[in-house]
Amino acid sequence: MRVTWTGANLAFRLDPEDEITGHASDEHPVKLAINSCTIGGVPGDAHPDLFAVAAWTVVAPWTRRRVTFDRAISADVAQALHDGWGIEAGPVGAEPRPAGSRLAISYSGGADSVAAATIYPNAPFVHFRRVAHPRVPNRWPHYRSDVLAKLAAKTGRELTTVTSDLEFTLAEPRPGYPEHHAVAAGALLLADRLDLGGLGFGYELGSRWLGGGRYLWRYTPDNPMWAPHGRWGRLFAAAGLHIVLPVGGVSEAVTMRLALDSALKEQVRWCLRGTDGPCRNCGKCLYKELIQAAVERRPLNTPITADRPVARKYLKKPPYGGQEMIQYGLARVPGIENTLFGPVLGYFDDLTEESTSWLEYCYPRALEEIPAQWRGEAAAYVEANVGMMTPDEVRRVETWGA
Ligand SMILES: [Zn+2]
Repeated sequence: MRVTWTGANLAFRLDPEDEITGHASDEHPVKLAINSCTIGGVPGDAHPDLFAVAAWTVVAPWTRRRVTFDRAISADVAQALHDGWGIEAGPVGAEPRPAGSRLAISYSGGADSVAAATIYPNAPFVHFRRVAHPRVPNRWPHYRSDVLAKLAAKTGRELTTVTSDLEFTLAEPRPGYPEHHAVAAGALLLADRLDLGGLGFGYELGSRWLGGGRYLWRYTPDNPMWAPHGRWGRLFAAAGLHIVLPVGGVSEAVTMRLALDSALKEQVRWCLRGTDGPCRNCGKCLYKELIQAAVERRPLNTPITADRPVARKYLKKPPYGGQEMIQYGLARVPGIENTLFGPVLGYFDDLTEESTSWLEYCYPRALEEIPAQWRGEAAAYVEANVGMMTPDEVRRVETWGA
């Protein structure tokens, strides 16, 4: 793989052993659409390691043996690429990037991201905004990145919005991040200008520890994407930008509660489709409505019926990503048996408030893995607003999926 940056434009050329099909770090199959993209709203003079790691978030799935950057990288980043992926990276020759002192939040506007932001009230936001690719037709015009960017601007926080078409480098399964970390490509290139030493993401308990999302659905202390000692954690750290998961120890019920109780509640938006509010008709809206109804202890309020394709994912037999929150909702939403979720009740034998109460507290190891300079603030917030899991509750996390 050969990587060339021309200003904000990233172009990459595959070596003979590279392939246009691959897997993201969560093992999901992906297919390449086009070998160029642009990242706008970033300076042109970032440390070469930042350019290298930003490029790697886009080219990793296609690279088999080596990656050649257009400027020398540090030995630390080359080592992290070798240890993590078995890839020879070079040329080597730059001094390592000294870590900055600040933490920024990679801010999407969803409940998890808002909860992470609430823990660090002074942290600046970096918001990734999808824009059209000049050479790839946009068959997904319902994705309202403009609405999300406007909401981010209304938060009153120090905000840098990065614009990028990098999601269109993916042909399959659909436009999106080649690696989840590509959302941070702009934040990486901004790290010197913003004096960043850490980047906070809204990944919660399910994503970090329970193998949620499209991952493995079992306890994952060594999660390759989000563990500090995983390959991505080590690569980001080698570039002087630690991955920080402020809400990595709490469930989506807690992030929902924190977000809806926060000063940013008017700007919370997990739906990518609605303009004046969430669309209420997509799968994400259905899932989040179940959680919100459980948190607010009220009946489910959705126009979605069981025959809709968006409902299918949540109505099938377990296991699936987000299952812990489905169980939480099923155990707590009044009258759930009379909703489209009624038949799902039969898949689980122990749906009680007690059996799901571990999802209301923080898994302690998640705080321990936050770098020291940002740990105290997160721990104080969590202790005051959430509370820690008991040993029995910790066991629920550590036996998940077993
Ligand atoms: Zn929606």
